[in-house]
Amino acid sequence: MSNLVSIQSILRCPGCKSSSLIVVKTDDEIVCETCGDKYPVSYGRPVFLRPDNSIFNRDDYRNLDSPVPTTGNSKWRALIPEASLNLASQRLLTRLRKELEKITDATVLVVGGGCQRTWLGDLLRPDDTIKIVYTDIDVAADVDLFCDGHDLPFVDNAFDAVVTTAVLEHVLYPECVAEEIIRVLKVGGLLYSELPFMQQVHEGAYDFTRYTLSGHRRLFNRIAVIDSGMVAGPGTTLVWSIENFVLAFTVRPVLRKISKVVIRIVFGWLKYFDLFLKDKPAAMDGASCTYLFGRKMAGQIPDSEIIASYIGAKHMQHL
Ligand SMILES: [Zn+2]
Repeated sequence: MSNLVSIQSILRCPGCKSSSLIVVKTDDEIVCETCGDKYPVSYGRPVFLRPDNSIFNRDDYRNLDSPVPTTGNSKWRALIPEASLNLASQRLLTRLRKELEKITDATVLVVGGGCQRTWLGDLLRPDDTIKIVYTDIDVAADVDLFCDGHDLPFVDNAFDAVVTTAVLEHVLYPECVAEEIIRVLKVGGLLYSELPFMQQVHEGAYDFTRYTLSGHRRLFNRIAVIDSGMVAGPGTTLVWSIENFVLAFTVRPVLRKISKVVIRIVFGWLKYFDLFLKDKPAAMDGASCTYLFGRKMAGQIPDSEIIASYIGAKHMQHL
């Protein structure tokens, strides 16, 4: 969705939180009539960042040379085989689409959309029935609007579904972002979330935390879980571990890229063990990444129920 007018009714000022008061005044600016703050628009994409954001500066978005900057890594990326499997997203997002097709004018929020528009669009098939709003804070992301997940610029209960994949490990305060996601999701609305567990640092300085499946469930304890499990299992964890063991010996970019290609060609097949391990409880304790699919409840799941829902191999044993 790129038409601002179609989502204007669900926008709110990330600063003063006022709703229905943000007006498109000119082509390159949105003004909050309540607090007077002015948000720039970059290539039709509003930049809903509070002026007191200490990490991201509005001017970095305003002064872009092109809407989607190229990274220059595409040739290398094409050479490097994938280190991971994804056992969940296709099945769960197809299920999400079927649920959303039952709703008139269903609207989906993607938090941390990055460059997922093509991939997610293929699975969710946005049309007159399903509309998708892509958001991210990354200046290079292909989004409909830029925002900080800690201050989502939407009114409460705005969306029929939220999709967030491998994003919350990159935010400073994941519980705040999870709270924001829950806030903008309608009661009964659907969440699909992926979160890494046994993965090494990626995205450099913007990588802060990891979650077990139990931690993932606690983070979203307003979500009644329909399905949960592993996105990628211990096979993927093993490929990442071998790769990062070798990468530990050098910071030189060329050597690191060559190492990645060689290791993934030699050891990449180990990830296919995940196909065998995906339904084994013991494998969950070493999963590379987990997923959660469920509906927002009016209330909250008790902590005792989250602990009871643990599906790994060991119960209260340090063995
Ligand atoms: Zn305002």
